[in-house]
Order: sequence, then structure tokens, then C-alpha cells
Amino acid sequence: MPTSASPYWWEQAPRLHLEAPTLAQSVDVAVIGAGYSGLCAALVLARAGVTVAVFEAGALGCGASTLNGGMVGPSFHKLGVAGLKKKFGAERSNAILKESINFVDFIEEFLRVEKIDAEFSRVGRFRGALKLQHFDAMARELEILQRAIGVQGEMIAKAEQTRETGSSLFHGGVVYQQDGGLHPAKYHDGLVLRAREAGVSIFPDTAVVSLEKKGSDYKLHTARGDIVASQIAVCTNGYTGKITPRLRRRVLPIRSAMIATQPLAPELIKHLMPQGRLYGDSRRLVAYYRPSPDGTRILFGGRAANLKDNPEANTRELRASMVQVYPELAQVSISHVWSGLVAYTFDHVPHLGQLTGGSMDGIFYAMGYCGSGVARASYFGTKLGHKILGADAGKTAFDDLQFATHLLYNGNPWFMPTVLGWHRWADKLGL
Ligand SMILES: Cc1cc2nc3c(=O)[nH]c(=O)nc-3n(C[C@H](O)[C@H](O)[C@H](O)COP(=O)(O)OP(=O)(O)OC[C@H]3O[C@@H](n4cnc5c(N)ncnc54)[C@H](O)[C@@H]3O)c2cc1C
Repeated sequence: MPTSASPYWWEQAPRLHLEAPTLAQSVDVAVIGAGYSGLCAALVLARAGVTVAVFEAGALGCGASTLNGGMVGPSFHKLGVAGLKKKFGAERSNAILKESINFVDFIEEFLRVEKIDAEFSRVGRFRGALKLQHFDAMARELEILQRAIGVQGEMIAKAEQTRETGSSLFHGGVVYQQDGGLHPAKYHDGLVLRAREAGVSIFPDTAVVSLEKKGSDYKLHTARGDIVASQIAVCTNGYTGKITPRLRRRVLPIRSAMIATQPLAPELIKHLMPQGRLYGDSRRLVAYYRPSPDGTRILFGGRAANLKDNPEANTRELRASMVQVYPELAQVSISHVWSGLVAYTFDHVPHLGQLTGGSMDGIFYAMGYCGSGVARASYFGTKLGHKILGADAGKTAFDDLQFATHLLYNGNPWFMPTVLGWHRWADKLGL
């Protein structure tokens, strides 16, 4: 077992302990969830002079926003450009692609303007092809993306891949030059402080336990007492719970886990990750890896063993996955293991907007980042803030997409272990 079942990121950025302010009787906007989405929305609102209270069920940063791999990219559709087009038509999918390619610029500019030192760096991303067919498919996709939206990328043939990776598992791969890495917990801390400075009231350890519509307002019952809000923004992503059943039925929570190695010899890291980029590959069950921002360790992530946190099983599976890519790490000890929840959607795109009708009429939401939410959650949270203000700046190509559920899905993803098990098995067989 690793020496710590706590996130590596929290070692350099210990969790902030803020005193919760006194709960007011009413507020203009109540935001549920203090991750990137909720805090970005709150920041926009507070700066426009609106009173905002952000409620967080746990400690600050207990959600995915301090637990992730810190990999920032445009996050294209899981089914590729073709899948996006098939789902939304040529015009809408082009608009979505155009907006998505700017996500990394958005984060970079946001951090610069807000003076948040999150150790952001445009290191680029290498994605290895496990099979020759995968390499060909990557080349086709890159060409489409270059033509459609000017993605900066390069195919790396197997014969040349040692300049990108020390792994011999791949049949070449693709480099996306625009992607960047950051320190997720430092970013989150910076957001918390900016939101507080802007006048947002942040309530850690304050779960919203139920909601009810009262005329044109909402009454929230929280762990600290009741409050009336003119508007509500639900920013709970993978942690979306029973208080918002309509949203819960639209997202599939999946646990993602990471491990950190003990500090490694600089020459070894240089050999395995020569350009110090972000890394991934073409397997079905996603795996993502990178050097720590200080370049001393390797951080390796993937799907967790199951929906409940199981540090021992996660360490075992991630270590095996890491050693498959880098056999040199077989004897290296693991210092940290941690995990958190992400939210998938039935159409593989994130959603934001306002619910209409029923007991949740008028409630705003942003969620469903499908495992790629560092940039998306920040961007969607910002857009959501503008939407609540009724400003044009809230418009996005993701507006008015039907946020679908499945007839038989009530928010309990009982079938996910079987689905993930199938993908795990298919990866093993190289299907
Ligand atoms: C291990 C891991 C690795 C990842 N790696 C990457 C990566 O490299 N790149 C990338 O782009 N994305 C990555 N992600 C995904 C990314 O972290 C998330 O998509 C993003 O942080 C979502 O932000 P959020 O604010 O919407 O949700 P969160 O940060 O999850 O915040 C939601 C919050 O809502 C709170 N909440 C829920 N219900 C209530 C309630 N009733 N009352 C009060 N509070 C409530 C929860 O406690 C939680 O803190 C990763 C995620 C994980 C877990």
C-alpha cells in the first residue's frame, strides 16, 4: 500500500480551512458545490454586484476539482468529430469544436488575469497508439481537426517515438501542442480566495439537504439552517445527489483514481517522458499520466476499481497499468493514492442551462464534463454566471442541447461495473 491514501496535490496545497460566515436569511443566488464550476459562476455573479452564497457539503476542495490530473485540453467528443456531427449536425458541431479549441486559452488567460499561480504550463500532450489501426485513426482525426479548427498537432511515427516517450508499447502516436498542465489544488485555492475577495459567502461543510420552490424563489434547507434564494445554480457534477433528482438522472457518476510514485531519478523521468508532456493512449478504459509539475514523480490515473473508494484495489490496478506502459517502474514504490467522482452524460457532451417545469423549474445547472472538466468546468461555470445575469456573454454553442436521460436510469449506475468490466476485458484482448 502507498504511504498516503491522500492526494499528492494536497501536500503542496494543504486544504484551506475557512470559517463559514453567518447564514443570511436570503441571498440573490445560492450555488450548490464549490468546485471549479460553482466558484467560477459565483465569481462572475459577485463581481456584477449580486449576493452569492456557495454551499459545499464537505471540506473545501473535497470534490474532483483538487483531485484531478491537472490536464487541460479542448476535450473533444469521445466518439470523434464524426460522432459529434452525427449527434448534432455539421453546423452545431463546428461551433462546438470552435469553442472547445479555445478552452486552454481561456484557462491560461483566466489564471493570468486573476493572478492565480497554478503552475500552468503549455507542455502539450502525447497520445500513444496501441495498435497500427489506432495510429491511422489518430492521423485521420488530426487531419479533420486541423482542417476544421486549426488544431496544432503532429503525428509521431513509431521509428521516432523515443523523442516523445520512453515506452515501447506504442505504434507511434499524436502530439497535441496546445494542451497544458496545471496544479489542480493550487488552482482551486486561488479560485476560493478570489471568490471570497469578490464578496462570495462560502460555506464549507454545509450540505444542501433539500430544496423547495416558494413562489418565484427557492427555499434551501442546509446543514446550517434555511435560506431563501432568488436563483439556484447546481454545480455538483459527479456528486449530483438526490436533492436534484432530475439532474441526477442525467449524469453517470464514475470514479477516477490516481497514484503518485516516490521521487524518481531525474534521468529516469527524462527517459520515460522526454518532453515532460501530458500522456495518454488509445485503450478503451482511459489512462492518463504526467510528471508532477516539479518534475520529480510520475502521476498516473485511470478508472477506479469500483464506484466506492478502494485505495488498495486502485493502487493495484493503476500500478499494473503503469507498468504495462513503463516496465522500468515495476519496482518503484507508490507514495500516494486518491480518487474522486466524475460525471458522464448519455451523449458524451457537458451540459449547462436552466430547467423548466416541475418542482425544479428555473434552476440553473452546469455539469457532465465526462472526465475532462478542468477547463470545461471553469468555462461552463463562467458562462453559467453570465447566464444567471441574463447577459449575452453567457451564450455558448452548448446552449439548448437536449440533456437526455435513459428511461431505465434513476441515478443509480448499477450497470456501470459491468460496462467498465467489458471495457477492461476488451482492452486485455486488444479489441
Ligand atoms: C482522479 C480524477 C482525475 C481527473 N483528471 C482530470 C484531468 O486531468 N483533466 C480534466 O480536464 N479533468 C479531470 N478530471 C475531471 C475534473 O476534475 C472535473 O470534471 C471537474 O473538477 C468538475 O468540477 P465541478 O466544479 O463541476 O465539480 P466538483 O469539483 O466535483 O465539485 C462538486 C462539489 O459539489 C459538492 N456537492 C454535491 N452535492 C452537494 C450538496 N447537496 N450540497 C453542497 N455541496 C454539494 C461536492 O461535495 C463537490 O465538492 C479528473 C477527475 C478526477 C476525480
